[in-house]
Amino acid sequence: MWLSVPANTDFSIHNLPYGIFHTGDGQPRAGIAIGDHIIDLAAAAESGLFGKARFFKKIFSQPTLNEFIGLGKPVAQRIRKKVHAWLQQPERPANADRLLADRRAATMLMPIQVPNYTDFYSSIEHATNVGKMFRPDNPLLPNWRWLPVGYHGRASSIVASGTPVRRPWGQIVPKGQETPVYAPSQQLDFELEMAFVIGKNSALGTPISVEQADEYIFGLVLFNDWSARDIQRWEYVPLGPFLGKNFGSSISPWIVPIEALKPFRVKGPRQTPAPLEYLEQKGKQQYDIQLEVAVAAGGAPETVISRSNTRYLYWSMAQQLAHHTVNGCNVQVGDLMASGTISGPVPGSYGSLLELTWGGKEPLSLPGGITRTFLQDGDRLVMRAAAEKDGIRVGFGEVSGVVLEAL
Ligand code: MN
Repeated sequence: MWLSVPANTDFSIHNLPYGIFHTGDGQPRAGIAIGDHIIDLAAAAESGLFGKARFFKKIFSQPTLNEFIGLGKPVAQRIRKKVHAWLQQPERPANADRLLADRRAATMLMPIQVPNYTDFYSSIEHATNVGKMFRPDNPLLPNWRWLPVGYHGRASSIVASGTPVRRPWGQIVPKGQETPVYAPSQQLDFELEMAFVIGKNSALGTPISVEQADEYIFGLVLFNDWSARDIQRWEYVPLGPFLGKNFGSSISPWIVPIEALKPFRVKGPRQTPAPLEYLEQKGKQQYDIQLEVAVAAGGAPETVISRSNTRYLYWSMAQQLAHHTVNGCNVQVGDLMASGTISGPVPGSYGSLLELTWGGKEPLSLPGGITRTFLQDGDRLVMRAAAEKDGIRVGFGEVSGVVLEAL
């Protein structure tokens, strides 16, 4: 490759993730990250790299990737091949300056317009931990091992990494009391999740099978499901999460194509009891992607507070999608399906403060004598993810956000 990239970059030639960026000119356009650069896909289209110059220039000058993704996987794979070949030339091509932007100077935007968002609950460690806190005798509810539990979330409040998150007000029942007060949340938390982006519409009334799922999964992003535990605790009975969740969720701005993650496919945990027929799966259905969460609290330097891995997830994306659509529910290009908090088997691998501090009872000790049970105003939370094997690294960059005081 004629372009040099940092040795440990998330955005190696094996990755080539898609995003929407601008460089201060206010012109959002599509790009592919490579090392510290972005390949401007609108400029690449204009220079004739993909053929049909006018058509692709228009596609890649849109403020979201939905139209491009909607063209289908064969088109995306052709674009990916062309970009790969362009990078693999022996000499720096004449159009290099026109096509490359400085990634560190670019502003990343929401890569997609999200029509629908679903959040699952697919980590058995997370479900068991939360269950233990609320129901010590009966942590895992009877349905959990039979179906990927989930709920329909709010798409309008999903934001790109870097967007600050405002501490929400809501109804909270103070400890030892029975009636709620209206107050800012005192238990603001994060949830470490991955989300997949739907790449193909399905027809209402037509389920997607486990075997067909890969056709419908375009790629993955990191997902932080900000959660106000005190609001959630009071409101969730009997219909589930609502205002404790829908004030904001953040995603990493680069969509890593599912094809780039093929080398990292692994077998998931053994499922017992055996799933019902429509959820049966074979082969490697999970991904070995390392995850970490860091917090910069009270102006102190960033500290890693959790390390987990997507391979711990009990239910696979294929099973989530098959279950989601088994009743005929349709999916749309750009829909986001989040995994649920990804906790591992040991305390240092838990994917939320609720678990890391065991319901706020065991505060985390951070450098500078700072302690945290839940997030404070001004805290900056960062999640990172990368898969690595045989010298190949495919990373997600990061999803970050600063907590703003309640208004
Ligand atoms: Mn969640």
